[in-house]
Amino acid sequence: MTSPFYHIPYYPSFDCMTPANAAEAFERLIPEANAAVDTLEATFTPSWTGLMQPLHEACHPLYDAWGLLNHMLSVMNSDAWRRVQEAVQPKVVAFSLRVGQSKTFYSGFKHLQSADRNAPFLTAVQRRILSKAIQGAEQSGVGLAPEQQARFNAIQLQLAQLTTVFRNNVLDATKAFSIVLRTREEADGLPVALLAVTAQAARDAGETTATAENGPWKITLDIAVYQPFMMHSRNRSARETLYRAYAMRASAGQNDNTPIIEQSLALRREVATLLGYATFADLSLSNKTAKTVAAVDDLIAQLADASHEAGQREADELLAFARAHGFTEAALQPWDIAFWSERQREQRFDYSDEELSRFFPFSHVLEGLFGLASRLFDIVIAPADGEAPVWHPDVRFFRVSDTDGTPRACFFLDPYSRPETKSGGAWMNDFRTREKRPDGSVTLPMALIVCNQSVPVGQAASVMRFSEVETLFHEFGHALQHMLTTVDEPDASGVNGIEWDAVEIASQFMENWCYDRTTLKGLSQHDVTGDKLPDTLFEKLVAAKNYRAATAMLRQLFFAATDMDLYARYPRPEWADANAVKQLNAAKYSPTPLLPDDRFLCSFSHIFSGAYAAGYYSYKWSEVLSADAFAAFEEAGLDNADAVRATGRRFRDTLLALGGGTDPSDVFFRFRNRAPSVLPLLRHSGLIRDDRSTVHTR
Ligand SMILES: [Zn+2]
Repeated sequence: MTSPFYHIPYYPSFDCMTPANAAEAFERLIPEANAAVDTLEATFTPSWTGLMQPLHEACHPLYDAWGLLNHMLSVMNSDAWRRVQEAVQPKVVAFSLRVGQSKTFYSGFKHLQSADRNAPFLTAVQRRILSKAIQGAEQSGVGLAPEQQARFNAIQLQLAQLTTVFRNNVLDATKAFSIVLRTREEADGLPVALLAVTAQAARDAGETTATAENGPWKITLDIAVYQPFMMHSRNRSARETLYRAYAMRASAGQNDNTPIIEQSLALRREVATLLGYATFADLSLSNKTAKTVAAVDDLIAQLADASHEAGQREADELLAFARAHGFTEAALQPWDIAFWSERQREQRFDYSDEELSRFFPFSHVLEGLFGLASRLFDIVIAPADGEAPVWHPDVRFFRVSDTDGTPRACFFLDPYSRPETKSGGAWMNDFRTREKRPDGSVTLPMALIVCNQSVPVGQAASVMRFSEVETLFHEFGHALQHMLTTVDEPDASGVNGIEWDAVEIASQFMENWCYDRTTLKGLSQHDVTGDKLPDTLFEKLVAAKNYRAATAMLRQLFFAATDMDLYARYPRPEWADANAVKQLNAAKYSPTPLLPDDRFLCSFSHIFSGAYAAGYYSYKWSEVLSADAFAAFEEAGLDNADAVRATGRRFRDTLLALGGGTDPSDVFFRFRNRAPSVLPLLRHSGLIRDDRSTVHTR
């Protein structure tokens, strides 16, 4: 029997994948990929079909299998999967460096580029792919002298390993911690749903008599438990224990990420120097739309200026509120903030996160989301469970087609939190990419959407917290951009080839619809009464949207500024270590002080084991564009169905269709007929009242 990782069929055999058959497949895939590349190097002709297409073909059996191996590691993590991934990784890194550093291919690219310049024959999309291939080769060290190249390769390998260890440390540290609450007094304030989930966790851990009513309840750092616990628990000392454990994850003992942080920063600095860039941030920004550190600093400063005063006011108001409701200390501690914010929100807007969540049964939310996609983009999404293998029984499968039935794409959705085996957070993986082959056949895109939302308890339908609904919309936005691409070249179709600071536009755009009346009412249905979300509650939700918006904005700016400092300006004599840089930025941006022994950087996976190194600002950069894109719908009139449909169609034909084949700034211009403005984001965040009178451009 052949391995499911070897010559992967269109629908991967997720249900048959094991660490052993993965290892077996890579034994063959690696030498075969190397041989295919060797042959191509000796035989290619410098044309699109003679070089670019066959090079893609030569690499993809290995890269596809590698993508699936990493997917399995992130959704079904175990020691056995880790061992395979760790064993294969150096060989895949070596292969990609070998391709990137091929002087033969590089001169082929250059040859093709100059031929096209003399007498243009490539499409605009192909031209962009080619120039990115040239830049990619240069940044893979194709031009380095042999000793420098050896050092460069050693660093790349080490960085890849550090990335994996960092991620595993965070996962292990998160899993390692839990507390058990045994009396109703200790569990005071916890919502019914959380009591049920944590009693189930206690039962799973051997407390066979645990019940939602009488406990015991096992509280963990799993985000689906940790967040609501911090918002609702009246047990302040348990909140402090949890908060400290969360803030200090992976900062000591076996899972300590502290040395990895300094090593990663130093290695990335060295990479930048080898390639002739002043800093790693300059290297990172050279292939993003922001282009320069100054442009990023400028965006952070603009948004911070608009938020500082409001952020301070929010902090003062929260303290005053807590004091008026029995809090007696001089200052709120970090473990008090979520709790008192939630009480203040309940009082000010008169609803609770818990009450709201009853209106969002998962199945109904999905239907509403698909209805919205159909209303905006003229597509039909149909469940097709059972038509493709899945990696876990909870995973759902769907097909996407045009309204005339033309198939467009398919996607998997793995919705629930599984802290034992699944990485935290939510993401979209672009497994299959749209591709038109020389024979005219087309591969349709396939997306893997992974969330970590609340787990259903027993027979009850799973209800979603509102923030989980927003997350689902976000990931679905990524998937839409991947699935509705019209680009035929795989290196630029879907989310491929999009500059990193523009990849969050479609995703953050979709989040806006969670505050659209028609959409939200459409996806709501009370899990007991069956009622739609009442208008009064919808209006409260909208009013509450910008509750502490400045604080939320400043938190993102704190992360973005810390990331930029670490990759553009670190080290400096006055900065003792990376942690000190984070503390300085916390003092600058956060309206309430961070815990002195906070070790957040040790779990800041985005910039140490994700793709956001010198790129965390991308969220805000994209959000400026996504807010401005949504403003086009507001201007057309959200209640005007025809106008919404027409604008949606334009959005589909530009932002969703053009993928990485066109510069993101041009794509935005085509949709909006002007350059982006920061004002819609500030207005949506309640930080300015109106942006209609003036339109500034960035
Ligand atoms: Zn995203």
